[in-house]
This record gives sequence, C-alpha cells and structure tokens, in this order.
Amino acid sequence: MIIELQPNIGPEIKRAIVEKVAAIGYKSMEVKTQRSHYLVAIGKKDFDIRTIGHMPGIADLHRVSDEYKLVSRKWKVAPTVLDLGDGVTIGGGGLAIMAGPCSIESEKQIEQTLEHLVANNVKIMRGGVFKPRSSPYAFRGLGIDGLKVWYNLARARGIKIISEVMQVSQIEPMLPYVDVFQVGARNTQNFNLLDELGKVDKPVMIKRGISGTIDELLSSAEYVFSAGNEKLILCERGIRTYERASRNTMDINAIPILKAKSHLPVVADPSHGIGIREFVPPVALAAAVAGADGIIYETHQKPEEAFSDGQQTLDFAESSRLINQLNEVIKFIQN
Ligand code: PEP
Ligand code: MN
Repeated sequence: MIIELQPNIGPEIKRAIVEKVAAIGYKSMEVKTQRSHYLVAIGKKDFDIRTIGHMPGIADLHRVSDEYKLVSRKWKVAPTVLDLGDGVTIGGGGLAIMAGPCSIESEKQIEQTLEHLVANNVKIMRGGVFKPRSSPYAFRGLGIDGLKVWYNLARARGIKIISEVMQVSQIEPMLPYVDVFQVGARNTQNFNLLDELGKVDKPVMIKRGISGTIDELLSSAEYVFSAGNEKLILCERGIRTYERASRNTMDINAIPILKAKSHLPVVADPSHGIGIREFVPPVALAAAVAGADGIIYETHQKPEEAFSDGQQTLDFAESSRLINQLNEVIKFIQN
C-alpha cells in the first residue's frame, strides 16, 4: 500500500497514521522525494482500506501489491515527464533522442559530435567518461577532466549531457556536469549506488541488467525512488541469451510491458541491444514503434576509429538518416 501524505503534515497526524498502519499488521517506511512525501506500507493481511483512508493528513492512498510500488502504474497512472530544462523533456509524448559516442575521447571528437547534434536538432548527447570494459587493458575513459571539457562545450551549444556513473564516489564530482546520470547494465543491481543516487536531485536512467528481468529493472528503479529521487528513466538495452548472432538480444517486448507496468519513461538503446552497426537503425525504429519515449544510440565521426564499440556505432550520415526516420515514424504513430 502507498499512502501519499499531505504536504507539511504535522508530526502528530503522521504518527497517528503510522500507528494505524502498524495496528493492521503492516510495516511502513517513510519516503520523501522532490515531489512528495509517502508512507510505503508492506504487509499481506487483507483489511478494509477505509479504516485508513478517512484519516487526516492523507492526500492519496492505493493498494499496490507488486514488489515495486512507487514506480508502478498502479500507483500513478499519468506518465512521468522529466524536465531537463530549456524545453528538453523525456516522457509523456514525443521522442527524446540521445546520441553520441560510446566514450568521450577528445575535445575535437566532442566538438564534431556537438556540431552533428545541433545540425539535427538533437538536444541530448551521450558519452561515457567512466567506461565499464570487459578487459582491464581497454580504454577506460577520460574521467572528470573529460567531463568538464564536454560540459563547457555542450553548454555553449545548449546540449544536455547523459553519462554513466559507475560508483558512489563518482556521484558528487559528476553532479554539476551531468543532466542525467546513467546506471549501466553491469550496475543495475549495485544497490549501494542506487541508494546514493536516490539522494540527488538529478534524473537517473537505469539500464536493464545484462541478464536482468523486467521486474528486476523495476525493483532497481524502486530503490532510487524510495531513497528520495523520483526523476527516473528505464532503459532497455538488450539481454544476454543463447543467441550469438547479435551482441545481445534486444527485448522489444520489454518496451510496452515496462510502459504498462510503470509510469516512468522508457528509453531504448539499440546500439548495445543488437551491437551491429547496420542493424541499429531498424531496431531503433522498431523500439519507437513499440512506444519508447526515447532512443539512445552511439554515433561517431569515424566509427572505425572509435576507442570503444565502433562496431555498433553509426557515422554521422547514418545518424542523420536515422533521426529523420525516427521523426517521421513518431509523427505517424503519435498522430
Ligand atoms: C554504454 O552505454 O556505453 C554502456 C556501457 O552501456 P551498457 O551499460 O548498456 O552496456
Ligand atoms: Mn558502448
């Protein structure tokens, strides 16, 4: 059960609600986010919801039996819209396009990418400065110094930044320079990281774990929400299956399922989803048709020279073509 408390509820009134919840055999946890103040009550006993519903101090109340609650559509029917400022939004209609290299490599590369994005009216640039690499000998990113250079160049062109945070100690130094924190597939169940991201007032995009289920992704989002941050985005990026013909198996099914289960925006990552450059555009289009609120993909001036993931990275001509196609598809399906 979720109880939304009235703003500025007094301690006496709150205590009465907590005691009532305990009396019916439920444990409750208080959650305060940027938007509201909740009591999440966990229990199995059947009870008449009216015994609580009439109490003073309650703004709204719903029974949500799923393991995840605050991110569930059973709690909030209206889609969540994230506002990154300057008219850039994710969720609630339209299609947010986020494009950029796998890794931030140099000032020149950042400038070339920004120029490409501005020419195509794309408002959000992706790129890793902390890179989770399967081999310790591979390029592992430019770190905070690279992020600062990127930030200055991107801000001057009105472009927002999404970048991966790999560990708790990176949150604070990254905070002033990112518009969205990305939690990578290898960290979807790093619960310490999720808890800490619950304490910041910045959107967080959580990728589905490499072998993670849809419900596990939603539970990871619940971690961040219940720790205080409801600015969340879910990302389908393919899962590991027995199939070896593609890098991962892009689970297009997850897009409508996530949208039905949760009010949070759902973004698709076809680059990691299929991992094969020439097939990224059709998978991106399929994700848009399936109802994604955004597409995140990798693009580079010279994919064959990219420091990481070049095999799945579009060049700028391919990227421009994809953006045009996505805009056409969205016009068609959302009208
Ligand atoms: C990335 O976005 O470059 C990345 C490493 O993604 P994932 O966590 O989905 O593998
Ligand atoms: Mn990558």
